[in-house]
Amino acid sequence: MKIRNGTMWLALLAAGATQVFAQQTPLQQTPPAPMPSPPDVKIETVNLAPGIYMLIGRGGNIGVTVGKDGAAIIDDQFADMVPKIRAAVALLSETPVEFVINTHLHGDHTGGNDAFGAAGAVIIAHDNVRKRLGSDQVNPSTNQPIPARAREALPVVTFADSASLHFNDETLEFTHLPNAHTETDIVVRFKKANIVHMGDLFVGGFPFIDGNTGGTFDGLIKAHATVLASIDDNTRVIRGHGPLGNKAELQAFHDMLVVIRDRVAKLVKAGKTQEQVLEARPTKEFEEKYGGTNFNAAQWIGRAYVDQKRALEMRRKK
Ligand SMILES: [Zn+2]
Repeated sequence: MKIRNGTMWLALLAAGATQVFAQQTPLQQTPPAPMPSPPDVKIETVNLAPGIYMLIGRGGNIGVTVGKDGAAIIDDQFADMVPKIRAAVALLSETPVEFVINTHLHGDHTGGNDAFGAAGAVIIAHDNVRKRLGSDQVNPSTNQPIPARAREALPVVTFADSASLHFNDETLEFTHLPNAHTETDIVVRFKKANIVHMGDLFVGGFPFIDGNTGGTFDGLIKAHATVLASIDDNTRVIRGHGPLGNKAELQAFHDMLVVIRDRVAKLVKAGKTQEQVLEARPTKEFEEKYGGTNFNAAQWIGRAYVDQKRALEMRRKK
């Protein structure tokens, strides 16, 4: 790839990036051998605007911008998807991926970082993505330890609150939304094209809220309110998982979470046990729409219970 000069770093710093880490020197490193892509997964490319696409494969949906400055992607699924992601981008752009933006830390959105980083792409993310990927973590579903990621998988440009990338005659605005799906989430906005990529702040079914990495119901609900206030009825909304969405769908998703959160909060405040909260089935009328085939009520409501118990304890401490 062509290495861009220092003005890009300065632009990012001026735009609010708080830290720029020395970029790895790809020519001196042997990139890991490419992993084969699973044969049965096809990447579907959806055109959203001139030069802007959504790639659907395995893992989080990818946003793409291509044009005279080159190619940038938002999220990169799993390591074994990288050959397919590269092939899909190659159909749109003559140059390889120059920037990778991570919406948050989870492995189904950052699994391709190693390969793209080793090939010289500049990875951009919230400060906490670098902090967490750079240290040992715990798998939220299995509680198994996840070792720190390799150096080339770590974001080299990070920021605390917001930053912008001026690329392909578009302004990509990155805004951190604290303690929502995790403590590492950003929303990415294509200002001119009126498109937002929400990562896992917005998904097709009941959202996973990762309490182990700082995610909270209250933060997620607040994050939705922030995004809803900044978009309109024509905004295309890319979900972390699931089909392309819009403002009305995000509003409905937000309202559903408010109803469930309020029900659980009320039961927790009344001193109900986790079993009693599960019995009350606070998700009932939403299960058909958001439950999907993998919905495990005991697990999901259990997480909501733990979350709201913690929120109540924190309010009492204040
Ligand atoms: Zn996630």
